[in-house]
Amino acid sequence: MFNFTPLLHTKYKYLRLSQFTIIMDSKTEIEIKDKFRRAKNRLVLLDYDGTLVHHTPVPDTASLPEHMSDIIIKLVDNPQTKIFIITGRSCKDIDKFLDHIPINIIAEHGAMMKMGGIWKNQIIDNFLWKKAIMSILNQITETCPESYVEEKNFSLTWHYRNADPDLGYSVSRELIHLLKKRIHSYDLKILDGNKVVEILTNKIGKGSAVKKLFEQSTYDFVLSIGDDATDEEMFKFFLNQANAITIKVGEGSTHARYKLNSISDVASLLKQLAG
Ligand SMILES: [Mg+2]
Repeated sequence: MFNFTPLLHTKYKYLRLSQFTIIMDSKTEIEIKDKFRRAKNRLVLLDYDGTLVHHTPVPDTASLPEHMSDIIIKLVDNPQTKIFIITGRSCKDIDKFLDHIPINIIAEHGAMMKMGGIWKNQIIDNFLWKKAIMSILNQITETCPESYVEEKNFSLTWHYRNADPDLGYSVSRELIHLLKKRIHSYDLKILDGNKVVEILTNKIGKGSAVKKLFEQSTYDFVLSIGDDATDEEMFKFFLNQANAITIKVGEGSTHARYKLNSISDVASLLKQLAG
């Protein structure tokens, strides 16, 4: 599956990723729009950072741009489309950017879900692991200036976006090495993300969250877009779903069937679907 061929530069904005991945060209884009229009019960799952907004040095400033907000509002208003923002951010954090839109949200990689304006906890965890892992993160933070630890309800995250890139990356490898020795005793997993390393219980994941949605309802069209390692769980879940269109934004290997180069390409595709 990861036997990648060189990128195929076409006149289109989509690039081929692998022999397994279907080429998405302008013809495919039209087919997606047709499928969307014909469908009666659609599910749209959109990651936030790196998919709808650019990653920023200060995560608190990653507001949804007005043009993207307008597109999302149009999609939300469509009664045949159920749309979720699916993010690793905390509820408080993501609410701050989306409180003007009555949208469903899956936060903290699936641990929390907001539907009809009400947040509900999806996971039970005793958090006995947090103290031990926090101690490792604090030690690592001391060795890497401008890095910091974020404690969410269900996870601990070490951010190195603002650190020196080479030092940040090398320390992140050391951190993952240290964490791997400890995670099994607590049934944890490590998400090696875009300038972040996140630790959370194995029960949580975008893949499990999406699986739950499918247990509750059936959909004749699914669109799932994301840019990071955490979105791969979602893409993997959809590998055997014929109605699912999965798209990775930006560089890197992926289980998604298509790739888009940038956030503006995402906006352009969503705008066409929103009509
Ligand atoms: Mg992302």
